[in-house]
Amino acid sequence: MKVQIPAEGILKTHDWGNTKTYRVTCECSNPDCDHNVWIEADDQVVVNIYTTTRTNFWSKTRWQHVWTLLTKGYVDTESTICLTEQSAFNYAHTMLSAIDDVKKFRQERKEKSATAKIAEQGDCV
Ligand SMILES: [Zn+2]
Repeated sequence: MKVQIPAEGILKTHDWGNTKTYRVTCECSNPDCDHNVWIEADDQVVVNIYTTTRTNFWSKTRWQHVWTLLTKGYVDTESTICLTEQSAFNYAHTMLSAIDDVKKFRQERKEKSATAKIAEQGDCV
């Protein structure tokens, strides 16, 4: 299996150099299932994946959910995203590639900043 460019199921939504965001789409085409993936590099790389969750409404009646909320303080939720093998492959590759990209961008920015400081100090002498 080969990585696709453009990739099935993966939409790059933003690229700010040290941050890249993607939308990973579900095969059912309901946008509520999609993953919003944020890959950011600051001092370390952080990956955040956002999705919409729902109560497992089929397992209980609404009144049972209300009772659970009143007695436990929360209700269980879950989400599902369905990916083809190709989409899952593209998802994994995109994640690895974006992590490398944001780390390189961050490192280059640090090096430029350090070089600029040295040059600035050289001007003052
Ligand atoms: Zn779905």
